[in-house]
Amino acid sequence: MHVMMSTTSRNKVFHLAGCPYENRIRYVNREEMNQREAVHMGYRPCSYCSTMKGYDHIRKPFMKQMSKLHGTQFTLVRSTDTLYIRTDAGFWKMYTKGDMQYRLYHLNAFDESLTTEQMMHGRYHPQKDVKMSAAPNSIIQYIIKHDEAKKIIEVDYRNLPQKTRKEKKYYEKARMRDGRRRKRQLINLLDCISRGETPANKWVSIC
Ligand SMILES: [Zn+2]
Repeated sequence: MHVMMSTTSRNKVFHLAGCPYENRIRYVNREEMNQREAVHMGYRPCSYCSTMKGYDHIRKPFMKQMSKLHGTQFTLVRSTDTLYIRTDAGFWKMYTKGDMQYRLYHLNAFDESLTTEQMMHGRYHPQKDVKMSAAPNSIIQYIIKHDEAKKIIEVDYRNLPQKTRKEKKYYEKARMRDGRRRKRQLINLLDCISRGETPANKWVSIC
């Protein structure tokens, strides 16, 4: 992720682009740099824009646009400085410990009938294929793409795009998962037949 800083700053702080404190830096002194390089040079994150609260404030227009285009819902909980993201196929939480490294967690069992408040208290797992050093905007875009793919899989994984290497890899994963799901369904079906149950309703849900 790229950050902004002043080359003449004595307190050596870097910012997210658009941070109100970054805007105070004189144009001639302003520099953009990779976060890792900035840390290497002894700079540290600004205490405002390195919080989710700061991010939420600075990137409001981006988030509004995502809501408008994709129906994504954002909820900032100030007491824990955590941003919750809800799409129509998933629920996520993102936070940082003031180091501008963004931890992304995915709710284990998404249920669209639950309220945001209920899902906030659910169980999560860390989303390991997202780098913590990624910019929060790109993490949000990842979430939207991830959940759009999930919706496609629910109908038919074969509709997934297969252009890029990443997409091909994801397609292969979905194909394997679909195979496992079919196998499980078959076992369940054989199970209920062996128990002598009439699989009237079960046929519908299983097949
Ligand atoms: Zn800042």
